[in-house]
Amino acid sequence: MPKEIIGILQAKTGFSIPAAENGIELYPLGRHLRGACGYIALDSDLTIADKFTDLNWDGVIFRDLIPVSRCDFQYEMDDRGVLIQCPECGDMYDLKMLKTVRTMTTQYKEIREGRKYRLSIIVQDEDYLNDIQKIVNIMKKTGIRLGQMKNSGHGLFVLRGWEIDDIDVYSGKNWRLLSDAVMPEGQKEIIIGKKIEKSDSFDKIRLRIIPRGTVINKQFSGFALGTYTGLGFGEIDPL
Ligand SMILES: [Zn+2]
Repeated sequence: MPKEIIGILQAKTGFSIPAAENGIELYPLGRHLRGACGYIALDSDLTIADKFTDLNWDGVIFRDLIPVSRCDFQYEMDDRGVLIQCPECGDMYDLKMLKTVRTMTTQYKEIREGRKYRLSIIVQDEDYLNDIQKIVNIMKKTGIRLGQMKNSGHGLFVLRGWEIDDIDVYSGKNWRLLSDAVMPEGQKEIIIGKKIEKSDSFDKIRLRIIPRGTVINKQFSGFALGTYTGLGFGEIDPL
């Protein structure tokens, strides 16, 4: 039976995330979480470390860090994929959370500290459940760094709490995409970086995506639509 590690990460510092386009992503994506967990795995000599270099591997799915409101409820998304409102307390998710940071040489926008985000990792291949738990325990102890390293204190998230639950695959035919889905019929193109093992260089991969927020009417069962689902692409929410 697949398991889900579910918890709350809180931004202890401001952070910024490179966006495929339009400037800034307002929350860390599954592939960023996967990259950071990969570093922990490598650093800790875990068996799972090898798996992180295979971007097609979906034995573990690292989902986007969708923001959660003050009451720990996940914000709802409109059809453009913009987060609007907490369905429980009405808390709005808006652009006031951006701040401009100036250094001697540059300036950039970042997302303010203090916001809370969902941690969701689905372990389909239970051979790796133990390693994932070790990674999450390290995350609990030291925090996890996500985002661009513009300065050393940047992008630190602390894990407020977590648990493991059983999770069933979803089944149905009316969905909204909670994250971009990589599919051949996608109209939009994004470029993601692939870290080359044991070096500092990056490969670039072009992917065709259907953007988050899109409604999909298709009979389907599983955790995510399309390919590269282990990186958090294609998360679906039943309508
Ligand atoms: Zn709320």
